[in-house]
Parts: sequence; C-alpha cells; structure tokens
Amino acid sequence: MTHLFAHVSPSDWADWRWQLRHRLRTADALEQIVPLTDDERRACAITADRFRLGVTPYYASLIDPDDPACPIRRQAIPTSAEALIHPDERADPLSEERDMPVPGLTRRYPDRVLLYTTHTCAVYCRHCTRRRKVSDPGSAPPRQHLDAAIDWIAEHPEIRDVILSGGDPLSLPDRTLDRLLGRLAAIPHVQIVRIGTRNPTSLPQRITPELCEIFRKYPPLYLMTHFNHERECTPQAAQAATRLAEAGCVMANQAVLLRGVNDSPEAQIALSHALLAMRIRPYRLYQCDLSEGTSHFRTSLRRGIEILDAMRGRTSGLSMPELIVDLPDGHGKVPIHPGHVVERAADHWVLRSYQGERVVVPEV
Ligand code: SF4
Repeated sequence: MTHLFAHVSPSDWADWRWQLRHRLRTADALEQIVPLTDDERRACAITADRFRLGVTPYYASLIDPDDPACPIRRQAIPTSAEALIHPDERADPLSEERDMPVPGLTRRYPDRVLLYTTHTCAVYCRHCTRRRKVSDPGSAPPRQHLDAAIDWIAEHPEIRDVILSGGDPLSLPDRTLDRLLGRLAAIPHVQIVRIGTRNPTSLPQRITPELCEIFRKYPPLYLMTHFNHERECTPQAAQAATRLAEAGCVMANQAVLLRGVNDSPEAQIALSHALLAMRIRPYRLYQCDLSEGTSHFRTSLRRGIEILDAMRGRTSGLSMPELIVDLPDGHGKVPIHPGHVVERAADHWVLRSYQGERVVVPEV
C-alpha cells in the first residue's frame, strides 16, 4: 500500500467489497491520489458518458504519481486520444453482437461459446474491446438471458468449451458464480469452463478462500488472466494466483500489446518471467482490437512480430506467448509468427536460428 492510502486499515484494504465501494470514479477522486495532467482531466470529462472511469484503490496504488508515462496509469486513466475515432475502428470490431444465437452468447467457432455474465469490472481498462457496453450498468444481461443462454448450451451437444466473460465474471457475487458453474457442470457435453477475468490484476483481494472453495468444486476450470505489465504482478497478485492454483485452477494469461505500456521485448520478457513465477502460463499476446478510441494504444503488426522475434532465445519457450490478431468482422483469431522458414525445397529446409543463422535441415 502506498503512503497515499496509509490511513486505510489493513482489513479494509484486504476486503474486496471495500475496494469496490471505494473505487475512484471521477477526476476529482483520482486527483486525491495522482496529480492529473490537463489532458487527463479533460479526458475524464469527455469520456464520462461513453466509457466510465473506475479504478480500485489497490490498482491506483500501483501508479507512479510522478511518471505521466507510468504503464499502470496509461491503462487506467483516460487521455483525450480516446476521443479520436480512427476510420478503421468500430464499436463492435469483432462483430460479437451479430454472432449471437441467443442474447448474451457469442458463437464464433463450432465447439465453443462466450457467455457475457456482467458488464461490470473492478477497473475499466482504457483499451477495452467491449467498451461499447462494458461499464454501462443498463446493458448488463438480466438473469433470464443467462438462464436462456445456458439452456441453449444444454441443447447443443457440440459445445465442449464455455468461456465466462463480460465485463468481469468475478464482479458477480459468489452465489451467482456457484449457480452458473453448477448449471454448466451439469451439462454432460461441456468439458471445460474458462473464466476470463482481470480481477487477479485489478482486485486480487477478490480471490478469497471462499471463492476458491467454489472453484474447487468444478474442475477442470481455466482462469484466463489479463496481466499486461510486470508491475501488475505484485505480492497480492501472487497470493491470489497461489490460492487459485491450490484450488486446482489452470491459469493462462492473455495480454494485450499496448503502445507505451508493454511494446518492447524487455517489457514482455519481464512480464512472462513474473507470470511464470506466479504459476501463470503466458498464453497469448493480442494485437489491440480496432475498437473505437483505442488507436493511441495500437502498435503495428510489424512491431509485434519484432518483439516476439527478439524474445526468442533470450528466454525459454515457456515464456513465449503466441501473437494473435482477432480479425475484424468476426473472422476469428489467427496467430502471427516471426518467419523462421527461409527456404523450402523437396529434400531440405533452410531455417533461421534465433541468432539469425541459416541452417539446412534435411527433409525426411
Ligand atoms: S477487465 Fe476486461 S472487460 Fe473489463 S474493462 Fe478491462 S478489458 Fe474490458
């Protein structure tokens, strides 16, 4: 805890409900913790009715108040660049609303579906793909939509894998999560459930022993975390990850490549190493989607490839996330790899080593 929150009792600080109740939701509240730039203050006003401000005291305590380029700050505090809409950007860049067989359930692939459980999050990430509806309590899926979506899954035996998403599913109360997971566990053809959550990053206090007892009942449960920077991998996050691992959850991280936050090989290697130390596998590194008002975060695809290429050999394969582009208009996800195949002949291949050497490998 920084000195800025020194007046908060340790028991309040460790209480996720206290953290949510005391979220910083306005420029004035943020200003008590972090001196805002003129641009940030203006941006808080401009974005207030489009994509709300919300920062837990815990996440705010990770901000370096003296560094306007702090990677935590950039993810949590808007800048006026959010008001710029690039011609290629869309409110729903992945056409998730189009591909809904029933409200609140996106089906993009034959064997898996994504279920929107809530549109609330502990921290509203300024790069959020679903900013069209996330943070808007009026758009939250009602209980009958969730029940109808689970009924739909039960009626479709080809669905093997269900991803609980949102918003952040861990914004829901324990009993609601227990009920949702219990209903999915009762469907014989659902083999795995994944929960996409940023709470281990933005509100690790949410990972309580009681929540983990619920998770323990529903194996195999995959927790898809969203850490973007080494500085998010705090002792509190590590404690949350330990609890999740001990409850039998399998954890994998889905980071987003963000300009000015983590767009260097050094930042990615540091993130991977910190994740692995917390038993979280670096799984994917996403190109920032074409959602409205996010162009200031987007790097070129070339830069993403350069970063992965520079990581190879400097760290282990376990540390290497896959670079993914989620194609616009719902065409699905594709991996992008730095090319290591230089030449392909009938009887041999020429491959490029991580040090740039060309090595001939015979074809068998
Ligand atoms: S936690 Fe996920 S859904 Fe919520 S604001 Fe961040 S990116 Fe968007």
